[in-house]
Amino acid sequence: MRIAMKFGGTSVADGERMKHVANLIKAYEHEEVVVTVSALAGVTDGLIEIAKKASTQGKVSEVKEFVSDLLKRHHDVANEAIKNSEIRDEVLEEIDTLLEDLERALTGICYIGELTPRSLDYIVSFGERLSAPILSGTLRDLGIESISMTGGEAGIITDDNFGSAHPLPDVEKRIREKILPLLGKVIPVVTGFIGETEEGQITTLGRGGSDYTNSLIGAAIDCDEIWFWKEVDGVMTADPKIVKDAKTIPEISYAEVMEMSYFGAKILHPRAVVPAMEKEIPIRVKNTFNPSFEGTVIKKEGKGEEVVKAVTLIKNVVLLTFSGAGMVGVPGVAARVFQFLAENNCNIIMISQGSSEANISVVVDRASFERIKKDLNKFTENGNITSATYNEDVAVVAAVGSGMVGVPGVAGRLFSALGKRGINIIMISQGSSEHNISFVVSSKDSEEAARAVHEEFLGGEK
Ligand code: ASP
Ligand code: MG
Repeated sequence: MRIAMKFGGTSVADGERMKHVANLIKAYEHEEVVVTVSALAGVTDGLIEIAKKASTQGKVSEVKEFVSDLLKRHHDVANEAIKNSEIRDEVLEEIDTLLEDLERALTGICYIGELTPRSLDYIVSFGERLSAPILSGTLRDLGIESISMTGGEAGIITDDNFGSAHPLPDVEKRIREKILPLLGKVIPVVTGFIGETEEGQITTLGRGGSDYTNSLIGAAIDCDEIWFWKEVDGVMTADPKIVKDAKTIPEISYAEVMEMSYFGAKILHPRAVVPAMEKEIPIRVKNTFNPSFEGTVIKKEGKGEEVVKAVTLIKNVVLLTFSGAGMVGVPGVAARVFQFLAENNCNIIMISQGSSEANISVVVDRASFERIKKDLNKFTENGNITSATYNEDVAVVAAVGSGMVGVPGVAGRLFSALGKRGINIIMISQGSSEHNISFVVSSKDSEEAARAVHEEFLGGEK
């Protein structure tokens, strides 16, 4: 069997977990395996923060302190995970060399006082460039042939859209050339999240991009399955912290899971589904703490009788309402609203306009809202949109499932379930693909709303 498998930062957060992950991989040593790994938990955030600080405050002493903390953390992990002293020393030396480069780069940023998207990508790349050699060394420590590779070395060549780079059209061929000759002989451990331009400059694929790396590789080399190891039992019907009776979804379709990740279910990076879907390669989400459990399989057609497969809840959103009597029957009003939001780089989560045309409601994430808050009044000064109000105390709940398509009564059941619990619905949206019914409720009702929908369609507590 040929498998591409990815481990996130939490799975390799310390030496104990690093060893655990290496042992999980060892169970597949006789298969053709390629591994993608993220930076140790929290490292990417730390790198972004120090890079910004270096460019604004320019304190070389802070850089030194940061780098020495990072060195200690990675040394600790390597020391704990790798017993063989020869392998360990090799890995420690690699860590030291990388950190010298990092310190030099950050010191440069302190002096120049400028952080370009290109230099930020270079700085954040160190997270994965440090973790991959440790995991590869830990595998060697267990007697498994392994090498570590950067994204660029693995053939992930991208454009120069730093911060959110796109792979070049011939990426598949490049990955095949690099990875295929290794399969079955050594286990390559590839840095997730990072790529390289044709000129050799380091790029990143966007936050959480290790998932995308894994899918790109898995699809390029025609894996039988593409695996994502998480700390939960696969994709769940709801967040188990909110809905006690949430359970694993054994099978779900690519389309359904994409609806879920867009809606904040934090399962997979949305871009990660596409390469697998294009080649119809099944994705499997497995639990590092429960490795014998099958987890969730994501494929073209997900089995399952349920009309609603999952309920998701997004907090930290703001509802904007644009209104004005003069909006009715006037073309171009919606365009103005969306242009304003686009110009301010606002991520729109949900949209609704009733046929009266008297107002347009839009849900955006909080970070987007902070960017436009002060400009809302100006926006309504001239034109036929005379008021722009906002409600910060809301959340979006979504019921997801392709079983809803063409089935009458789903919305009826959903909204009666909410009505019975006395939950007021502020806004509703359903795309014509019918894979997702989303609605806005006040924050205080949101968890109860998620439980109500789950109970109605997926069972559980009353
Ligand atoms: N380390 C990167 C991040 O935190 C990539 C990833 O974890 O997938 O965004
Ligand atoms: Mg991550």
